[in-house]
Amino acid sequence: LSSSSGPRVCIVGGGPAGFYTAQQLLKNTAVDIYERLPVPFGLVRFGVAPDHPEVKNVINTFTQTGQHERCSFHGNVNVGKDVTIDELRQAYHAVVLSYGAEGNRSMGIPGEGLPGVFSAKDFVGWYNGLPSNKELHPDLSFETAVILGQGNVALDVARILLAPVEMLKETDITQNALEALAGSKVRRVLIVGRRGPLQIACTIKELREMVNLPNTRADMLPADFEGIAEALKDLPRPRKRLTELMMKAVKEGGDDKAEKCWGFRFFRSPVEVLAGADGKRATGIRLALNKLEGSGESARAEVTGQLEDVDCGLIISSIGYKSIPIDPAVPFDPRRAIVPNEMGRVQDTAGLYCSGWVKRGPTGVIATTMNDSFDTARVLIQDMEAGKLDLSVNKPGAQAITALLQTRGVRAVLFSQWEKINAAEEKRGKSLGKAREKLLDVDEMLKIAWS
Ligand code: FAD
Repeated sequence: LSSSSGPRVCIVGGGPAGFYTAQQLLKNTAVDIYERLPVPFGLVRFGVAPDHPEVKNVINTFTQTGQHERCSFHGNVNVGKDVTIDELRQAYHAVVLSYGAEGNRSMGIPGEGLPGVFSAKDFVGWYNGLPSNKELHPDLSFETAVILGQGNVALDVARILLAPVEMLKETDITQNALEALAGSKVRRVLIVGRRGPLQIACTIKELREMVNLPNTRADMLPADFEGIAEALKDLPRPRKRLTELMMKAVKEGGDDKAEKCWGFRFFRSPVEVLAGADGKRATGIRLALNKLEGSGESARAEVTGQLEDVDCGLIISSIGYKSIPIDPAVPFDPRRAIVPNEMGRVQDTAGLYCSGWVKRGPTGVIATTMNDSFDTARVLIQDMEAGKLDLSVNKPGAQAITALLQTRGVRAVLFSQWEKINAAEEKRGKSLGKAREKLLDVDEMLKIAWS
């Protein structure tokens, strides 16, 4: 092993999993990160709600990693298309897949493709400036919006739809989303779940934000809460506090003079998106009423045969993100929609690892992603020290990949070049009185990066 080489490791995906895995690996080895977009940070930039700036402070830590002398970031490289995993494995001793969950679960119901129906992933991408969602143009001229799913993402979407524009205008929400929301006619947001109040998947912070939204009251169905008061005493503490807050919202409702409202609708599953007379767009949704079989977290929703139609012009399905395979050479479990692995070691493939949502599925906050990324990095280093990665072979690393990409007309955006995009966005934001105004166009990003 020559002194200039040493182990070479690369990471696919520059979101939280990629950066946390890199942070840990950098203690032992140099790391290259390949990211599809010209800009880093994954869902911290394109997922986390604009009114949660404190969550985005992790970017400071990621930036330190990105600036580390032994870390090199290569944005604008779509792994699986621009370069294959086998090519990366040829060039590196180990490859870590941290490419997140870029797909979404579909409802699988008739009418799902009608105009007026969006996945939460696209809707969130729209207000957060994801280039592929910049032309979404959701029609906000209807009074009622229905969100399917009751997790934190659903509540983020509900809050953005109902929040006073003053609450958003200094955040990094895109200017076009802000303008659309300023003209929005949406006054009522129903958040639908298959099961009951005791199975709801959101956390208390997000629920409290709904309860405290100005000019907005809670509109729930008391029938959905039958028997809940009696069940309270046996609940584990976090679930108990969450349920108590929900019960309070049911009881108090909130400001009678409020112009807007939101409410959970429990025990309901989507059956069909209803189209207007011309069949051209969504005008409502048909829900099946459910009853619960069993109790607690494992209770199952069973249909009762009763149906209910709700008029609405905006339907957002928030039933989960989903990882997708990016290269046929990598094992993929289509049922669980993850890369099958044991403690981050990809099944049957020495030298290939995974971390983050692609490793364990699209649930959990950034802290969860951090812990599992640290775990993967530790396992990789253990394997290296145990001689499981053949370090006696010299590997060319980024040099070879950059040359290969060049022959394919692909040029990477380095971390220092992202910092130019960052500066341009902050500057634009400043002139609008906002934290940042994101660039929405990849070509414009590239122009600034390489200027
Ligand atoms: P991602 O963040 O998705 O990162 C994956 C990266 O890989 C992306 O940059 C992507 O562009 C890149 N990539 C994809 N395919 C390729 C490819 N083929 N080649 C190269 N690169 C590729 N957590 C909190 O703690 N607080 C919150 O408030 C919060 N809000 C959230 C709101 C939403 C709407 C969502 C969806 C999640 C939220 N989370 C929040 C959870 C948090 O975002 C995740 O835990 C975390 O982002 C998962 O990290 P990851 O790196 O696995 O995936």
